[in-house]
Amino acid sequence: MRENDLVIYNSLSRVKQRFVPLTEGRVGMYVCGPTVYGDGHLGHARPAITFDVVARYLRYLGYKVRYVRNITDVGHLEHDADEGEDKIAKKARLEQLEPMEVVQHYLTRYHRAMDRLNVLPPDIEPHASGHIIEQIEYVKKILDAGYAYESEGSVYFDVPKFNAEHGYGRLSGRNIDELLSATRELDGQSEKRNAADFALWKKASPEHIMHWPSPWSEGFPGWHLECSTMSEKYLGRVFDIHGGGMDLKFPHHECEIAQSVAHNGADAVRYWMHNNMITINGQKMGKSLGNFITLDEFFTGSHPLLAQAYSPMTIRFFILQAHYRGTVDFSNEALQAAEKALGRLNDGYRRLQALKPAAEADALDLKAIEAKLQEAMDDDFNTPLVIAGLFDICSTVNKANDGTLKLSAADIEGLRRLVDTYMCDILGIVPEGAAAGQADMEPFEKAVDFVLEMRSQAKKNKDWATSDLIRDRLAAIGFDVKDTKDGWEWSVKK
Ligand code: ZN
Repeated sequence: MRENDLVIYNSLSRVKQRFVPLTEGRVGMYVCGPTVYGDGHLGHARPAITFDVVARYLRYLGYKVRYVRNITDVGHLEHDADEGEDKIAKKARLEQLEPMEVVQHYLTRYHRAMDRLNVLPPDIEPHASGHIIEQIEYVKKILDAGYAYESEGSVYFDVPKFNAEHGYGRLSGRNIDELLSATRELDGQSEKRNAADFALWKKASPEHIMHWPSPWSEGFPGWHLECSTMSEKYLGRVFDIHGGGMDLKFPHHECEIAQSVAHNGADAVRYWMHNNMITINGQKMGKSLGNFITLDEFFTGSHPLLAQAYSPMTIRFFILQAHYRGTVDFSNEALQAAEKALGRLNDGYRRLQALKPAAEADALDLKAIEAKLQEAMDDDFNTPLVIAGLFDICSTVNKANDGTLKLSAADIEGLRRLVDTYMCDILGIVPEGAAAGQADMEPFEKAVDFVLEMRSQAKKNKDWATSDLIRDRLAAIGFDVKDTKDGWEWSVKK
């Protein structure tokens, strides 16, 4: 085995120790971005949330992370099997828009939905259309290495040759010999030598509106190529994690492996990670099935299959209740159960913030509680176990709240730190009442209290105009302020 030969891990145990030797403390992570823009649909939520948690946890461990997630925007025909025409090209043609207007339209909606799900943006979000020159250079090198051939203005990867020398299908475990012989007889008209060969560069047909000049034809790059090219550009020839949905394992990721081995002579990726798929009421999602629900429709409850609206945090929590390698089935019953469970977690969070220390405290093994949470994350990002650990903390808090357990100030502080770290920072679940992206409410609360302190000062000075102005402005912004006998109470109006 060569030094950089592909090692496929089905799980990432011992995450904490794993990445040091390769990139001096910086973890390079590449995740395939959305392949069909839709309007930010449910299928986009799972990979985004899965790899958001991976990046958050690696950063918590002290790694620097460079997280790259691409934008597929060069108009590939194969992307919208339901409609048989590339989505971007079709919308641009029908509505007489620039293709990039269509891309931007979907991208903005996608980003907005990701923000609401509290998915942090990647560090680099490269567009395939912005890397045409790099992709052409990449194709030239594969041609020079003898693993591709030109045919009628298009360039195809020579899968049988690559398979004979390096083995094709290692990641997905497909029986490629079978695939190659089964497809050999097919369709004598094809430009391809073998039906398993895939396009590195495709000559554009006259109706294809997105095309660029190249040494072979006016055309566009093959889909698989953008990921090999852009991951190398931003993460180097060998990088740590390549992620994506399980549906991308074959052929997309298999093709990426073949391209980088043909281009560099070695594998580019150390660890492949694939999130499992989402079903709705036990069915795959698809436009023809009428269950293609956008994230906005979940947030507003405006799809006929939905019994109610579900908050972004309910969706996030529901997805994280399953391990990323397990399937997730969306149904109203399951989402309502998740909403209730998340409500209990929020209650626990609030009670923990209000908990008062006891003078004579019972013993609490904080280290054991922390070790359990850490081990869960360290064992292949086991988020359901982390959530179970958070519920254990909730029951401890409930006991302290009803007086059956007495906690010291240090233990209460320790529990708050663990919940802030694992619930808010790592799982990215924003406690109820806090807006997404504002998990840390303390400065905000202090600011409101400061304004109310100024109001009380104004009242003391009989400056009624200022005092009324502050009360009215806070009410207009959305605060409920009540005067109490020793000061004030405020809350955010629902
Ligand atoms: Zn990709």
